[in-house]
Amino acid sequence: MKKTTLWLAAVLLLTGSVFAQTPVKTPTTREMNLLCWQEFGELVPAKIKTVLLPMGSLEPHGVIPSGADNLEPEAMARDIAERVGALIAPTLNYGMTADMKAYPGAVSISKEAYAAFAGEILENLAAQGFQNIIILNGHGGNTTILNEAASRVSNECRVRIFLVNWWTLVDDITKDVFKQNGGHAGNNETAYTQAIVPDYIHPERYTLEMTAPLPAPAGAFYAHPVTTSILLYEKGQGYPTFDPVQAKEYFRKVNDRVAELILDAIKKWDAAGVYR
Ligand SMILES: [Zn+2]
Repeated sequence: MKKTTLWLAAVLLLTGSVFAQTPVKTPTTREMNLLCWQEFGELVPAKIKTVLLPMGSLEPHGVIPSGADNLEPEAMARDIAERVGALIAPTLNYGMTADMKAYPGAVSISKEAYAAFAGEILENLAAQGFQNIIILNGHGGNTTILNEAASRVSNECRVRIFLVNWWTLVDDITKDVFKQNGGHAGNNETAYTQAIVPDYIHPERYTLEMTAPLPAPAGAFYAHPVTTSILLYEKGQGYPTFDPVQAKEYFRKVNDRVAELILDAIKKWDAAGVYR
């Protein structure tokens, strides 16, 4: 055996034994609901510094499940958690939806209760040692209050918090996939939800009369409760398509964009050196 070959064999043997002593451990699951406390303690913050927090609502959504705003960010979190090196916190399945509360099956939480509850979830996640809390918001009605809570908790607990409103972030993807703008419970949300729970989508219940454009210009009128749950961002565009191929394409493209945004934000926070 040549001298170099002997060296190579020695190095391989050595690295092999090092790996044998400290095996690369991957989490048994990324869901906080399923982790035992001992494993969570081993992972956070030593190995995992980021948590994805889906925040949704229970409200009518055209002919798709009323929990669409919960199912969407939850499925998104499961799809991207490994890519962004994160754990997944349990979803907050209730939000603020005062103008849809009149519809069957809807639940709306008051501003005061929601702000306090959401804020304490953020505080607890920060106290557990997460450096980056990523709120995957599924419901527009939560945005203002969540953003206020995020800003306060970030400053008070010295933690980085990022809030994503996915349907706004992917405006260009919606227009690319459907060749139209979207809507609440419109083409975009229906497709994304269809990719997750295809058996719970009801095209047989859908009629054009169930749709209405959002006020244009914004603020032109207000309806309490809203007159329909399929609210088109633009008049004449955003009708559900119920196309399973489009659904899969949209789901993949949306998740890729959200993952890319999160990784970029963490990279920039690290570079800036904030809340290391
Ligand atoms: Zn929704």
